[in-house]
Amino acid sequence: MAKQAAVWRRQGRRIALVPTMGALHEGHAALIRGASNLGDVVVVSIYVNPAQFGPGEDFSRYPRALAADAAMCRRLRVDAVFAPGRMYDRDHSTWVEEASMSKGRCGRSRPGHFRGVTTVVAKLFHIVQPDVAVFGQKDAQQCDVIQRMARDLDMPVRVVVAPTVREADGLALSSRNRYLTAAERKRAPRFAAVLKAAAKTGPDGAPALAANGLRREGFRVDYVEAVDGRLCAAVFLGKTRLIDNVPCR
Ligand code: AMP
Repeated sequence: MAKQAAVWRRQGRRIALVPTMGALHEGHAALIRGASNLGDVVVVSIYVNPAQFGPGEDFSRYPRALAADAAMCRRLRVDAVFAPGRMYDRDHSTWVEEASMSKGRCGRSRPGHFRGVTTVVAKLFHIVQPDVAVFGQKDAQQCDVIQRMARDLDMPVRVVVAPTVREADGLALSSRNRYLTAAERKRAPRFAAVLKAAAKTGPDGAPALAANGLRREGFRVDYVEAVDGRLCAAVFLGKTRLIDNVPCR
């Protein structure tokens, strides 16, 4: 991958990277289409990054669908799929840690998660040498953390955030949606609906209103917080953890 990236760069072609963990869906497809408009060549990385999963989280059962993912990338005219089997040597001992944006919210509930994310994304940036990398708004805190990392460490890459893609019923697309039982899937759109309704109240009242509404609808609330004009939340529906965020001003 690094050799191919060097060839493209010598040719003066702009590389756009879309980092993913695979099990690709229309949310990823939208990122890939966005990347095609930003670069001359598009690279999609597919790697279920063990470093960003905590003990007891879903690393081993995270969906893996490389053949279908490759077919989708071909349809979208992706120039390269980078799907390494392993990205860490056995004695890997260097970590990239962002120490401000990664605190709170998902950082509080998932200790070590963002350290895993920043480390793997830094590695991907070094290997793929992208001019631009596209991330999804659904993972708003991740976007903030990566933008801060790129700025603080002078990484020569533009980090672009693309809007959240939703099902017709409002549920944000996620590879983890396939964990939901049929009954849970029916209730899941209430997550975004309750957030959107509460957001109308504005950032002061919205978090408590949304948290109460979500509990009433049978979600276990991990957090609801208003951050930088967005109402951000994580909930459990059964065993599945869902995250989402909507505008809130
Ligand atoms: P993942 O494979 O879940 O790690 O996600 C890879 C990238 O796709 C991340 O930048 C996510 O924010 C983005 N993404 C995931 N779901 C969506 C969605 N529904 N809409 C837009 N981007 C998404």
